Amino acid sequence: MRFQFRVRKMENSRVLFSILYWLCAFLFVVGPAEIKSAGITVENLFSSWIGREDVDFVNFHIKRLSFTAAVHSALPIGYFLGMTCVSDSAANISSLFNGSLEFGWQLYVCTSILLHIAVLTIIFYWSMDDWSNHPIVKDISLYVNHRGSEVARSSWRVRGNEISNEFRRIDKYATSYTGWSRLIVTENWIMMTALYKVRLVPQDKVTLAVMQSEEHDISPESNSMVQFLSLRIKPTVSPHLKPFYVRILSTEFKELKEAVMRSILTLPNISILQTVDEMFLKAFREHIHSNRSFSSLTPVEQCIGCMQNTAQIKLVKNCDSSSPCQTCACRPLWCIDCMGRWYASRQDRTRPETWLSGNAPCPMCRAKFCMLDISVLASN
Ligand SMILES: [Zn+2]
Ligand SMILES: [Zn+2]
Ligand SMILES: [Zn+2]
Repeated sequence: MRFQFRVRKMENSRVLFSILYWLCAFLFVVGPAEIKSAGITVENLFSSWIGREDVDFVNFHIKRLSFTAAVHSALPIGYFLGMTCVSDSAANISSLFNGSLEFGWQLYVCTSILLHIAVLTIIFYWSMDDWSNHPIVKDISLYVNHRGSEVARSSWRVRGNEISNEFRRIDKYATSYTGWSRLIVTENWIMMTALYKVRLVPQDKVTLAVMQSEEHDISPESNSMVQFLSLRIKPTVSPHLKPFYVRILSTEFKELKEAVMRSILTLPNISILQTVDEMFLKAFREHIHSNRSFSSLTPVEQCIGCMQNTAQIKLVKNCDSSSPCQTCACRPLWCIDCMGRWYASRQDRTRPETWLSGNAPCPMCRAKFCMLDISVLASN
């Protein structure tokens, strides 16, 4: 009995350690904004080697990518080393050297060491010849005039310093982070930084296009409606260069458009919702179409708001009896968009996240209604 109990306890501590380790590792690698703001990131932990982004942008990211790859690829080895400290675990250092380690663990340790060595080798290769093999330097080198190998070797530094100087200036524009990535526009450059990737391209050698849009009712950061745009950035210096993509908030699109010198192509099927009202109107339309419809017996009149569309909705109390909503006896008088704008105008401007669950008075009879009480006319 006692033996069984001890076995179970050992298993428990191993399982607990495994869950805790990989959960922490996962949060460390792709953690939410809270972890980032708490400073638990590679660039904060190794800041004395990596330096600061606002002091030397190019060097900072060259080192940040290298350190990130090195640290993240060491996480599997860290798990083994941690496991050797868990009491009675099969993993321990001495059995690793005398060959008595379980086959599963042997395989695991070999794979993780090989992975780490492979990554370190890549980083060593990057660092050779004054980092000239690093992906960031290769990006920059595309835009350096090669005049003899000696000039070319050092000239990426000149370009790099130009970029860092531009980044230091306060007139640069940076979008907010979506996940780990963000877009930065300086006087002459467009740059994207992400967890394992940084791309740079001069403003006059690029095409920009909005390829896709996606709406979410709720964003975890602000608790309100958001639209993300997927922006494709394609360097034009060579047809072989692959484009890169970055997600931006639609509310930042206007500022971005002003910051870049080039026009941004938008595919015709994409409507960019730049304001909270535009975003709300889209959500409003979707929501009321899922309500019960209303069959009107009388001929439908014109909307008295815009005098362009026909009236499209009727207020019918559909929500439950405990709500403060009242019965409206008005004829259908409004189109969907005019009613949406009226409804939005009666909400708390500072808290868009409450709009869909709020209520508004009927524009004519002042009877209170909520989102559930807006019925689309069945003939529409
Ligand atoms: Zn109207
Ligand atoms: Zn009414
Ligand atoms: Zn109601």
